[in-house]
Amino acid sequence: MVRYINIKSRERTEFIDITEKIQEALKEAGVSSGVCNIFVPHTTAAVTVNEGADPAVQRDIQAFLNKMVPFDGDYYHREGNSSAHIKTTLVGVSQAVFIDEGRLALGTWQSIFFCEFDGPRHRRVALKIIASDKKT
Ligand code: ZN
Repeated sequence: MVRYINIKSRERTEFIDITEKIQEALKEAGVSSGVCNIFVPHTTAAVTVNEGADPAVQRDIQAFLNKMVPFDGDYYHREGNSSAHIKTTLVGVSQAVFIDEGRLALGTWQSIFFCEFDGPRHRRVALKIIASDKKT
């Protein structure tokens, strides 16, 4: 089964911490050891793992991406959101995080962020939680 997390973004570009929502899904699934695969089924949104303690880090990453891939440029795509498509490819639409003792095995300062690049929109994130033997 694939589980889904619903997200409502409020800004054109925005990083939303979804760590706790994923943790809740692990609890619901009752998996204590394994892998949590996180997949964003959109072409203008992504997922990344980075620092969750200081919001300035997320701000800096977004500012850098906006500078590197400006909203307006010499793009062919008629929908007018090529910068969002490019950022999505740069950041990526999937992550895999280990599960240990029922918790996401993240580093002390790590959080999982849904990255909106063409908001505001209703979005969703797919989770495939795969259980493994505790010894593997
Ligand atoms: Zn488009």
